[in-house]
Amino acid sequence: MKTGKEYEESLRKLNLVVYLFGKRVENVVDDPIIRPSMNAVKLTYDLAAMPEYEDLLTATSHITGKKINRFTHIHQSKEDLVKKTKMERLLGAQTGCCFQRCVGMDALNALSITTFNIDKKYGTEYNKRFLKYLEYVQQEDLVCDGAMTDPKGDRSLSPSQQPDKDAFLHVVSEKEDGIIVRGAKAHQTGAVNSHEIIVMPTISMREEDKEYAISFAVPSDTKGITYIYGRQSCDTRKLEKGTLDRGNQYYGGHEALVVFDDVFVPWERVFMYKEYEFAGELVENFASYHRQSYACKVGVGDVLIGAAQVAAEYNGAAKASHVKEKIIEMNHLNETLFCGSLACALEGTKQPSGTFLVNTLLANVCKQNVTRFPYEIARLAQDIAGGLMVTMPSEEDLNSPEVGHWVKKYFKAVANVSTENRLRILRLIENITLGTAAVGYLTESMHGAGSPQAQRIMIARQVNMEEKKKIAKKLCGIEE
Ligand code: SF4
Ligand code: FE
Repeated sequence: MKTGKEYEESLRKLNLVVYLFGKRVENVVDDPIIRPSMNAVKLTYDLAAMPEYEDLLTATSHITGKKINRFTHIHQSKEDLVKKTKMERLLGAQTGCCFQRCVGMDALNALSITTFNIDKKYGTEYNKRFLKYLEYVQQEDLVCDGAMTDPKGDRSLSPSQQPDKDAFLHVVSEKEDGIIVRGAKAHQTGAVNSHEIIVMPTISMREEDKEYAISFAVPSDTKGITYIYGRQSCDTRKLEKGTLDRGNQYYGGHEALVVFDDVFVPWERVFMYKEYEFAGELVENFASYHRQSYACKVGVGDVLIGAAQVAAEYNGAAKASHVKEKIIEMNHLNETLFCGSLACALEGTKQPSGTFLVNTLLANVCKQNVTRFPYEIARLAQDIAGGLMVTMPSEEDLNSPEVGHWVKKYFKAVANVSTENRLRILRLIENITLGTAAVGYLTESMHGAGSPQAQRIMIARQVNMEEKKKIAKKLCGIEE
């Protein structure tokens, strides 16, 4: 397994084409806007090397028997799925943001199932190719970006009906040694911190859409791939001299638009090619795994609840009964999210490939709660923090020889807490609920791994309504 330092060094060797604020980024790893997101991924390596986290962060490869990072593991049991949930909560709590590495893990697991199922129907060799690729990912301990979301153009039209054919990523031509693909994937979490991009279709497909029903993996610096970095609220605070106003001093997440401009993919890295009837299965399984993954939000919730409690103590309000009530409510909501992620893991089942898949109904219920509860937890945190969180002066004013003494005097609350520390904890709450980390904690909770309606459709489809009706009728004596 790689150490965090080796991971960082491996990224330096990549030749990524990244654009940020209209310019090509020369040094991606050290760019001040990007760097905190790399730090967060790096922690997935550093924690794996620490004895106290070894059980959650590492696993035994089912193909080589070697010790690997859990982010490259194919779940072999319910216990593996439970450890995944706990690992994600742990990392969310250690970083206070999105640590980005789960999408690749979820893509690998979904592909381990679907490549097997396609082969069973068509006698193809996708699973063999996939396992060879997986061994490479495990051996090199790589970060994979699981790329699913296409730009999608006009939502009322299917891929093949779009006026711009590239609205969904598709095959342009076929060669003897591989395929050429074109299109883009949007909102790609951790894309520029990844060694590999694993592409999957974004929706179920029909026969007329089959050139869009493709899945493959390419190195992230493959010729023809360009990354356009997504900006975040308050991101340029990372360019300022001081660091207090960033809130989170160390970590962050990121998303990017990834453009594939006629990219070549060799056949040995193609895992689905026009088997359109398997696109829906791959999407649903990936989405279910990723909906479980939102245990990460529970970890970020841990940070936010801790910050709200500290803010209450610093304000001198921690003993007020309504504040205590609000903290209880925040914990109740946060642990309910944890319950959902654990439940879908514990109800997981073995698939024909041997991979354990989460219970997809419960994974969707889990994610549906994630689209709501973090917003309520954030509301309560802001309630407890007070308005100063959004009206307080900058770090430079705090340290100004002219006005600094007033900032310190008038924003002083309890006697034994410095004004600086009070401002620090409020900036952290601001960061998670309004700043760069709110991308991951709030809007991504809403839309990541599918918008709320996507889960509601799955819930409607997966509950056994006939059975419920039958029991109700039986209990009241209806005989039809
Ligand atoms: Fe992982 Fe959560 Fe980030 Fe998704 S949002 S990649 S589950 S940390
Ligand atoms: Fe996500």
